[in-house]
Amino acid sequence: MLKHRAIYDEEHEQFRETVRRFAATQIAPHFDRWEEAGIVDRSYWGKGGEAGLLCPQIPEEYGGVGGDFRFNTIVTEELFYAGFTGPGADFAVHSDVCAGYVLSVANEEQKQRWLPGMVSGDAVFAIAMTEPGTGSDLQGIRTRAVLDGDEYVISGQKTFISNGQHCDYVIVVTRTAVDAGSRGMTLIVVEADRPGFRRGRNLHKLGHLSADTSELFFDEVRVPVTNRLGAEGGAMGILMSELPQERLAIACQSLASAQKAFDITCTYVKERVAFGKPVGAQQNTRFKLADLKADLAVGWAFFDQCLAQHIKSELTGEAASIAKLWATEMHGRVVDQCLQFFGGYGFMREYEICRLFADARVQRIYGGTSEIMRELISRNL
Ligand SMILES: Cc1cc2nc3c(=O)[nH]c(=O)nc-3n(C[C@H](O)[C@H](O)[C@H](O)COP(=O)(O)OP(=O)(O)OC[C@H]3O[C@@H](n4cnc5c(N)ncnc54)[C@H](O)[C@@H]3O)c2cc1C
Repeated sequence: MLKHRAIYDEEHEQFRETVRRFAATQIAPHFDRWEEAGIVDRSYWGKGGEAGLLCPQIPEEYGGVGGDFRFNTIVTEELFYAGFTGPGADFAVHSDVCAGYVLSVANEEQKQRWLPGMVSGDAVFAIAMTEPGTGSDLQGIRTRAVLDGDEYVISGQKTFISNGQHCDYVIVVTRTAVDAGSRGMTLIVVEADRPGFRRGRNLHKLGHLSADTSELFFDEVRVPVTNRLGAEGGAMGILMSELPQERLAIACQSLASAQKAFDITCTYVKERVAFGKPVGAQQNTRFKLADLKADLAVGWAFFDQCLAQHIKSELTGEAASIAKLWATEMHGRVVDQCLQFFGGYGFMREYEICRLFADARVQRIYGGTSEIMRELISRNL
């Protein structure tokens, strides 16, 4: 169980209990089936909304509870610590990433239109930046949006899109001016029932098996200008101000998952006997676990510092990149070492550590790779 930390107050801890109950009653009974199917049931979204787990940071006037971002991180901590990585990632993209864009840049009419459904789970959101030809280098996107009267006509292809199968709305990063580089990119919200929009297959992944991840196709999709998020040409500026929250959320996911791997390993090494004594009694085991415990303690402390800055709107892009880089790299080290202590059992799918190991790998890739985090941090040296 995750310990209480000073960053959270009584109200957050009560909410933590709600999330724990939700995980035990609404995810645990279905989780193996969802992992097998490669997708959660659509009803999971409505249940998450009912329980108050979706977009807890949304103000009351838009149907939310008006919490701060710490309520979002409580959801993440509990779902990832419970080992429900895929379902946790589904909610994270919707609540921590997409809702952030709508809250920060949508106009009043758009907020009234989209936010209540995001809170209830009736309107599942995805965000589509990555294309087959470009991911890290966002300026290379080729999905075009051409203005025709009071509509944009969107053509192109996206890939690796989380919630791609279940989404009702997609925030699409489009190119509206061919020769304008980063100033020629625009965010447009596309409803999934528009003619010309098509979902590709649900991609087969190494981990996060129950999180649907898809290709999306746009074939001359006509969308009213009133679906544009922010100014034309403003996408890069908006992304720069929203990506830190996504990166902080990913750091949170990694810490919670790494903590889970560490905790189940401590239990296992006390029980598993080799050469007449528990594996955990070997000095090598104790010293390696001591290192991981120190890594986790320092990681949580830095995360809490960043979270405190974020709720005061003081988190810098650099600090968020450091948090993402360090927490996700640490996560990789922790699950690798922990799996080693399980020996051959660690390689078996029925052992949780095996799934935690597989699920961990994407943390260093999505939301900006470790190399891109280093690139961003090194710009301020
Ligand atoms: C499970 C999953 C879910 C995802 N969900 C979404 C989503 O919801 N929406 C979305 O838009 N995208 C999503 N992505 C895409 C993800 O954000 C990209 O995969 C990621 O940004 C990397 O882009 P790429 O795959 O094109 O790799 P590339 O950009 O081709 O990079 C390949 C390698 O080159 C390295 N590299 C690239 N540029 C540099 C550089 N300048 N210096 C040093 N090294 C460099 C990279 O670090 C990487 O190691 C998801 C991906 C996965 C796997």
